[in-house]
Amino acid sequence: MAKKQFKAESKRLLDLMINSIYTNKEIFLREIISNASDAEDKLCYMALTDSSVGMSREDFVIRIDIDKENRLLSVKDNGIGMTKEELESNLGTIARSGSQKFRDEMEKMDDIDIIGKFGVGFYSAFMVSDKVTVKSRRYGAEDAWCWTSSGVDGYTVTPCEMDGAGTEVIMHIKSDTEDENYGKYLEQYTIQSLVKKYSDYIRYPIKLKMQRTRRVQSDDDKTPRYEDYTEDVTLNSMIPIWQRTKNEVRKEDYEDFYAEKFMRSDKPLRVITVIAEGQVMFKALLFIPGEVPYDYFTAEYKKGLQLYSSGVLIMESCEEMLPDHFRFIKGVVDTQDISLNISRETLQHSRQVKLIATNLEKKIKSELQRMMESEPEEYEKFFRLFGIQLKYGILASYGMAADTLKDLLMYYSSTEHKLVSLKDYVSRMSEDQKYIYYAGGEDIAKIDKLPQTEVIKKKGWEMLYLTDNIDEFAIQALREYEGKQFKSVNDDEELLGDEDKEKADKDAQQYKELLDFVKDALGGKIKEARISRQLISQPVCLTAEGGLSFEMEKYLKSFRREQSEEIMAQRILQLNPGHEIVSKLEQAVKEDPDRAKKLCELLYGQACLIAGLPIDDPAAFSQLICSLIV
Ligand code: ADP
Repeated sequence: MAKKQFKAESKRLLDLMINSIYTNKEIFLREIISNASDAEDKLCYMALTDSSVGMSREDFVIRIDIDKENRLLSVKDNGIGMTKEELESNLGTIARSGSQKFRDEMEKMDDIDIIGKFGVGFYSAFMVSDKVTVKSRRYGAEDAWCWTSSGVDGYTVTPCEMDGAGTEVIMHIKSDTEDENYGKYLEQYTIQSLVKKYSDYIRYPIKLKMQRTRRVQSDDDKTPRYEDYTEDVTLNSMIPIWQRTKNEVRKEDYEDFYAEKFMRSDKPLRVITVIAEGQVMFKALLFIPGEVPYDYFTAEYKKGLQLYSSGVLIMESCEEMLPDHFRFIKGVVDTQDISLNISRETLQHSRQVKLIATNLEKKIKSELQRMMESEPEEYEKFFRLFGIQLKYGILASYGMAADTLKDLLMYYSSTEHKLVSLKDYVSRMSEDQKYIYYAGGEDIAKIDKLPQTEVIKKKGWEMLYLTDNIDEFAIQALREYEGKQFKSVNDDEELLGDEDKEKADKDAQQYKELLDFVKDALGGKIKEARISRQLISQPVCLTAEGGLSFEMEKYLKSFRREQSEEIMAQRILQLNPGHEIVSKLEQAVKEDPDRAKKLCELLYGQACLIAGLPIDDPAAFSQLICSLIV
C-alpha cells in the first residue's frame, strides 16, 4: 500500500507534535473528544431538521476504550463521520491551514507557543502515540475507511468495516521513556480525571468501559472470592457550563472553557453570565478577552457568538448577536425561542435575535460601566486593549452608537495625569468653563508642550489629550457630553473676554502690514498669519482651522496616499506679539526684507516642529538656520 504524503505545513506541525517537549500533553484527549462531540453535534442537528435520520439527542454517545495489553486507547463517536475524501483532506492537512497567519506563526514559534496559542486539534494525538488509526463512516454512506499514520512519513487510507456512521480514533500509546510516563494514558483513573477536568460539560455522555472487581459469595462463606466484571460508566456531568449558576462554577472552569472553546491562550478579563426571562428566554455566557486576538484587526477575525437552541449548536458564529463596537466579545447564547432549523437569512430578520442582541448589548455595557466604577484598574486594562474599538464604534455609526459608548470612553487628563471618563471631567468643570477642551497630538509629552495649551493651563482648566488617530473624528461625531460641547485648544475665539476681543482687533490693525508680509513670504504654505491671543512663552505656533486638525490630516493621509496633496488642514501661523522675536521681525521687514523673509521661513519651520509636523525640506531648513547665524 503506497503511502500518501502530508502537505508541507502539516508535516511540520506533525513533526512538532511527535517530538514535542510540551509538558501539557494530556490535552490531546480533550481535542479528540471535542472533535467527536462536534461530529455528533452535526448529525444531531441534521436529525432535527431531517426526520429520516431517525435519531434524537439521547442516542449520541462517545465511548472510550482502553486496551492496556496492546497499549491502545480509542475514542469512538456515532456522529457524522467522514468520507474517504474527507478523511484525507481533514487529516492530511492542518485544519487551520486556511489561515496564512497560522502558517506564518508556525514558522516562528516553537511547539509550546503553537499549542498554547492555537490548540492543534487532531494532530495532538501524536504527542502521546506513535501510531494513530482513524476509522470512519460518513452518515448515509455504505463504505467505511481506515486512515493510518505513524508520523511524518505519510499515511495510508484503506477500506474497512463499520456498523454504523461515526468515527473511531485509535491511538497506539508510546512506550514510556525516562522523562515521560505515557502508560498513564492507559489507566482508567487518568482518563476519568482528564475527562472531568477538560470535557465535563460535553453534552453527550462520555462512557468508559471500566474493569471492576466485586466480591462474590463463596460456597463455604469463608474464603472470599472475587470476580472481574465490566461496567459502562459515564464520566462527564454533561451540563453545559452556561446552564450552571455562577457560584456553582469555579473561575478556572470558566477559563478552561474559554481557552478550549475559542482557542485562546489568554485569561478572560471578565466573565459575564446572563439569564433572561422576559419576552425572550435565553442564557448567555460572555467573555471579555484578556488580550487582543492576534487576527483582531484583519478580515479573518469573525465577530459573533455561538448560538445554541435547546443545547444544540445551530450556529458557530452568529454575527447578529453582537454590535460591531463589542465585536471583541466571545461567548455562547442558548435559547429555546429560536427554531432549530432557522436559516441564516431568516435569522437576520428574526425578532427574537434582535431582542437577544439588544439585551446583550445592554448587559455588556452595564458590566463595563460597573467595572469602570468599581475596578478602575481592570477597566483601564480593558480600555487599553479595546478602547479603540469603542471609538471606531462611534465613528462607524456616524454617532448613532454614541449614546451607548460615550460613558465608556476614557482620555488622558492634563490635570489628573491619568485616563479619566467624560463624566469625571464634566463633574470637575469650573463654573466659568463652558467647554470640554481637548488637544490632539502624537503623544502626551508632545501635546503637553503645545503652545496653545498654555492659556488653558493658566486658567487652571482641565484638557483631554488625544493620542489615537481617530480620537478627534470620534470627538467630532460625539459633539457634546451632558450638554457640554467639545472644543479644540486651537480654537481660541471663546477664550477671550470682551476686553481681550477689543485688544485683538486693535492688534490685528496694528500688525496688518507685518501679517501680510509673513503670508506673502510663505507663499501658499499657510492660509493666514495672525496675532495670537493664546501664546505666552513661545514666539509662534501653528494651528488648524476648519474642522480638519493636523492629527486628522495625518490619519487620512496614511490610507489615502493618492489624495495626500488634497488632504490638508488649513494652517494658521500665530505670532506672539509679546515675544521679542516678533519685534525683531518687524524691524527686519523695514530694514532688510530679504532677511525678514528668511526669518518667516524659520518661524514657520519652528511652528511645524512644535505642532509635530515634518519640515518639508530639512536640509534646506538647516542651511537657512546657518545663513541667519553667519
Ligand atoms: P479542528 O477540529 O480544529 O477543525 P482537527 O485537526 O482537530 O481541527 O480536525 C480536522 C477536521 O477533521 C475537523 O474539522 C473535522 O472536519 C474532521 N474530524 C476530526 N475528528 C472527527 C470526528 N471524530 N468525526 C468527524 N470528523 C472529524
